[in-house]
Amino acid sequence: MTVQRTPLIAGNWKMHKTIPEAVDAAGRLAALLKGKDLPGEVMLAPAFPGLAPVAEVLRGTGIHVGAQNLSWETEGAFTGEVSGGMLRSAGCAFVLIGHSERRQYFFEGDKQVNQKIRMALAAALRPVLCVGETEAEREEEKTLEVLDKQVRTGLKDFVRDDLRGLVLAYEPVWAIGTGKTATSRQAQEVHAFIRNCLADMFDDEFAAQTRILYGGSVKSANIAELMRMPDIDGGLVGGASLDPEEFARIICFTG
Ligand code: PEP
Repeated sequence: MTVQRTPLIAGNWKMHKTIPEAVDAAGRLAALLKGKDLPGEVMLAPAFPGLAPVAEVLRGTGIHVGAQNLSWETEGAFTGEVSGGMLRSAGCAFVLIGHSERRQYFFEGDKQVNQKIRMALAAALRPVLCVGETEAEREEEKTLEVLDKQVRTGLKDFVRDDLRGLVLAYEPVWAIGTGKTATSRQAQEVHAFIRNCLADMFDDEFAAQTRILYGGSVKSANIAELMRMPDIDGGLVGGASLDPEEFARIICFTG
């Protein structure tokens, strides 16, 4: 089934930038992109304190704001947590869920990821479900098995109409922040596998409409090659999104 999917380039700022730094970088990015005919949608994910101020700076620019995480609860005595409703009220349209750093350092498992997706949808946020294998898993040739489990458990018990607007991000853990990028062929193979998995869980139409981003040391020098692959629908960009000039080049697919 051939469907045109609008590319999405998302910047994950992780735990970088104070509020003034985030506002300045978002404003510079908006100025760099102003008046440009962009190939797709753009999203910036600052740390929690920067969300509302960055959303304010980006108002009317068409650049979306996303959070990097949310609670699996709606409200209550959960010190340090942030709910989907709070993120929505801060101006977020998207939220990253299951990023490998959350899985690795904060012990998030697929069941929590599943509950977080539920919370995101309840708050009218578009979830970006992040999946990916470690270097050891790839070496043991377990990549597809790991991804199958992450996708199926993450999306368990949803029906396709719940998941309109869902985005997936394939991020091989060995490529995140390491400078090593999966080759476009390696990434394409996994993206096609994930799309088949979605077709099997839901249906062909849903699989064909769902965007699957690639993440892992994306930069302006490799984005165009990645975007030539038929199942790569954009990028989730960490380090290279911190610099507005470089991120603008990535968004425009120009190396
Ligand atoms: C990420 O954090 O999602 C990521 C892909 O990081 P980097 O681009 O720095 O590898």
